[in-house]
Amino acid sequence: MNQQRALVTGGAGFLGSHLCDALLAEGYSVVVADNLLTGKLSNLEHLRNEPCFEFQQIDINEPFDCGAVNYVFHFASPASPVDYAVHGMATLKVGSLGTFHALDIAHKYGAKYLVSSTSECYGDPLQHPQKETYWGNVNPIGPRSVYDEAKRFTEAVTMAYHRYHRVDTRIARIFNTYGPRMQLNDGRVVPNFMKQALRGDDLTVYGDGSQTRSFCYVSDEIDGFLRLAKADEHLPVNIGNPTEFTILECAQRVLAVTGSKSKIRYEALPQDDPKQRCPDITKARTLLGWEPKVDLETGLRLSLDYFRKEAR
Ligand code: UDP
Repeated sequence: MNQQRALVTGGAGFLGSHLCDALLAEGYSVVVADNLLTGKLSNLEHLRNEPCFEFQQIDINEPFDCGAVNYVFHFASPASPVDYAVHGMATLKVGSLGTFHALDIAHKYGAKYLVSSTSECYGDPLQHPQKETYWGNVNPIGPRSVYDEAKRFTEAVTMAYHRYHRVDTRIARIFNTYGPRMQLNDGRVVPNFMKQALRGDDLTVYGDGSQTRSFCYVSDEIDGFLRLAKADEHLPVNIGNPTEFTILECAQRVLAVTGSKSKIRYEALPQDDPKQRCPDITKARTLLGWEPKVDLETGLRLSLDYFRKEAR
């Protein structure tokens, strides 16, 4: 049997690079297309001598072609609030133009396609927990809109290629995911708190810390992607851990796991910061038999060595 070849856009990013590892372990040959705007080659360094792995520095906002593939995993985009605030235009472009180009590859080669979407599609949700059928409460012109609307558009383009061109598409809606290879300075809550705790700095809790998030460890998230990749479902599927924490509880978990004596410092809540986020994963459970296994404390312990090295 011929080896299957997968294209991973954004494969030098946190999630994309873990996905490359998982695809190689499944027997795929993997080509990454990444412009290294927020991705890092260090995330792929361990694959340097892997014969079934190839890296191409490509800006997918321009038409591109990495040769025939059987699967397109479209993961390219700045993804942390700090990154997409700095790279607003690039975020809008990769969600729109980049998505057209990734789908054009799938269409051209008759490849299957899976895109990483986001719980940001739900905005500051008025329904809780969030089911895939909820259309969301997004501020279309606020500071987060460059990401939220780009991803909503990404989903619209993906469904259009499915409906008009019969591309075999899938949409994963990712909730807050964490683990090794997150950039220490990407501004997201887990790397921020880990860095601050390990350096003995104050943990910066925005607002009163009562806003909630639901944290999924990276190995669970990747397991969800692989299962969805093999499933025959074209509408979005939430892939996230349904155990919800306040941000203050998250800070306390980080202090416990690191054994840090850092204090908590309260800072202003960013505009449009969602008050609550929790996936309803009934669909993933039923359709994919998927269930996250790693709780927050375990996942933080599993990430500790990585963050310790990065924080030095
Ligand atoms: N947050 C915080 N302190 C930090 C970084 C983030 O209190 O140093 C809060 C942020 O306001 C939000 C939550 O943690 O309510 C998650 O933020 P993150 O940037 O990780 O992702 P989001 O879910 O907002 O996209």
